[in-house]
Amino acid sequence: MNILMFGPNGSGKGTQGSLIKGKYNLAHIESGGIFREHIGQGTELGKKAKEYIDRGDLVPDDVTIPMVLETLKDKGKDGWLLDGFPRNMVQAQKLWEALQEAGMKLDYVVEILLPRETAKNRIMGRRLCVNDPNHPNNIFIDAIKPNGDKCRVCGGDLKSRADDQDEGAINKRHDIYYDTTTGTLAAAYFYKDLAAKGQTKYIELNGEGSIDSIKQTLLNQLP
Ligand SMILES: [Zn+2]
Repeated sequence: MNILMFGPNGSGKGTQGSLIKGKYNLAHIESGGIFREHIGQGTELGKKAKEYIDRGDLVPDDVTIPMVLETLKDKGKDGWLLDGFPRNMVQAQKLWEALQEAGMKLDYVVEILLPRETAKNRIMGRRLCVNDPNHPNNIFIDAIKPNGDKCRVCGGDLKSRADDQDEGAINKRHDIYYDTTTGTLAAAYFYKDLAAKGQTKYIELNGEGSIDSIKQTLLNQLP
């Protein structure tokens, strides 16, 4: 089974991916990892990508798409879950064409829906327990709200990551994600249209539920 996953930063997309991959034995492939591996292993495409990155330029689609395809073929023989790509409408179209040419099926496209303000709060509300990074705390999520200013699990001190408090960077990422004309949501809707024509299946999940309820809703809609 091959799955493409959409969701804004802060929607728990990565978490859902890692929760469901085991059941279907999918390779969980993240866009950042594709670049790191190709560059790390010094593949032809990786070398090309590195030239652009070193110059501070965006890697063009005619390098990125073949890189994604190679990784899907290599690692996703038994099925894959692709996360973080495509980021825009043009990439969505090119990826679809490339999959068709490779004879690879796209079984499901999953979109986690979350209002932009909520997504931003979820990122900015994250707190890390100094005793255990696996103690989830978030001042904007009732189910995991800290106990005063202490960890809700162990009472330890909490801190926040600088990245999570960088509102400018969060807004920049969300500007791209929530752009329904040419951005990431436009890419998602491209596949939604294909689903309406019966060429793939599209699953929408309400991202405001708990991690468990979202996972359950998703599993209920997969075979
Ligand atoms: Zn703790």
